[in-house]
Amino acid sequence: MSTVRQALAALDRDAAGRSMMDLAGELYPIPRSLTGDGVRATLGRIGRRIPLELHELPTGTPVLDWTVPREWNPREAWIRDPAGRKVVDFADHNLHLVGYSAPVHRRVTLDELRPHLHSLPEQPDLIPYRTSYYEETWGFCLPHRLFESLPDVEYEVFIDASLEDGAMTWGEYLLPGATAEEVLISSHVCHPRLANDNLSGIAVAVHLAEALARIPGRRYSYRFLFAPGGIGAIAWLARNRDRLETFRHGLIAANLGDGGAFHYKKSRHGDREIDRAVAAALAGLGEDLVTEDFFPFGYDERQYCSPGFDLPVGVLTRTPWGRYSEYHTSADDLSFIAADALAGSLAAYLAIAAVLEEGVAAPPAAEDGQRSAAHTGLDAPSAQARPLRTAGGRRYRNLEPFGEPQLGRRGLYGGLGGAGREGFEIAMLWVLNQSDGERSLGDIAERSGLPPGVVGEAAEALREAGLLEEVE
Ligand code: ZN
Repeated sequence: MSTVRQALAALDRDAAGRSMMDLAGELYPIPRSLTGDGVRATLGRIGRRIPLELHELPTGTPVLDWTVPREWNPREAWIRDPAGRKVVDFADHNLHLVGYSAPVHRRVTLDELRPHLHSLPEQPDLIPYRTSYYEETWGFCLPHRLFESLPDVEYEVFIDASLEDGAMTWGEYLLPGATAEEVLISSHVCHPRLANDNLSGIAVAVHLAEALARIPGRRYSYRFLFAPGGIGAIAWLARNRDRLETFRHGLIAANLGDGGAFHYKKSRHGDREIDRAVAAALAGLGEDLVTEDFFPFGYDERQYCSPGFDLPVGVLTRTPWGRYSEYHTSADDLSFIAADALAGSLAAYLAIAAVLEEGVAAPPAAEDGQRSAAHTGLDAPSAQARPLRTAGGRRYRNLEPFGEPQLGRRGLYGGLGGAGREGFEIAMLWVLNQSDGERSLGDIAERSGLPPGVVGEAAEALREAGLLEEVE
């Protein structure tokens, strides 16, 4: 029995659950975003529990196909009616302000104000979560009932925020083991006041780090990464590109405090040791587990599992993002997460670590070729193509395979295809993720379930943008 398994058996779930709720409660009011003092404050609180190493990269630093954005720090934001009453106020709830809103101070009519207001007609009492990282604008989010009740008068709009050159911050904690082989646990730290989609993952990761730190004789080194979603993972990959040969297994921790069953999104290959370990660990705990094959959007697996890196990273959540009605709204608050759910999630992560430490989920030796190829940072086209040679058609190679290329800069977001914007964008992500020179567009259409015409249209747009080359 591994020492991790002993620690799992000894886990005091009540105490751990309470402690995770306390941490979530401490972090809940902090106005986080991609960058800024909210992220620093969050990492500062985490750093009181585990010794985080902080990293900052200045605005404008190139990272893979991206650059570090400007730093955003909101201070005050409100909409005031002619009687001087603040009808919407960032001080009441930090979801009221669209993330990355530019500063503004002006008087506007209701008609001028409306395009800057975001609400949810179907959930009229909730405040939605909106950001605009890469397109400069400003805006407020509010309950639809309030939106509908606004009289047609003149409003004073005030946003005091800085959006200027600064830095992007992330934190890491490396817990060394007997070997340099690493397990990565990655949580995003960029969501403001949202409990399940953010704080639950942070709380579980912090407590997993604390639990593992107390266990002697671990084989693996465990790296805990707390970084803003998307650009944070891209920056981490850019900075760690030459040391990924020690990367063995990765999990993305999020949505771990709701009452739903566990859900595992497999790594890009779907048959790596981490994929087997998750299934074995959850079965061992007697927990229900829903599994789903990889798809190239969601959390930071879209970066880790981009074809150039192709790291064995899965996503273990309870109810996945976008599949609960509280998701990305003010209803994802502290009452939506529960101590026992968090404790069960911590137990699941500990059980996975135990299975990895015991080495009982390793795939058959024949698959080692895939794994060592991934460690070089190069794709392994012959191994990857194997399961999917079903349909014919053109084949392409992704020319920007490390991380997701920035499509917005190339005018590819908003470029409408026949399936409407969303289907077209998803098709581009599939084509980029799967185009290794071996898989055909037919293979990609089959795997993604998207209409072949849309996949072809996406490939053509990507080729025109210089992101793909056709392979004979
Ligand atoms: Zn989210």
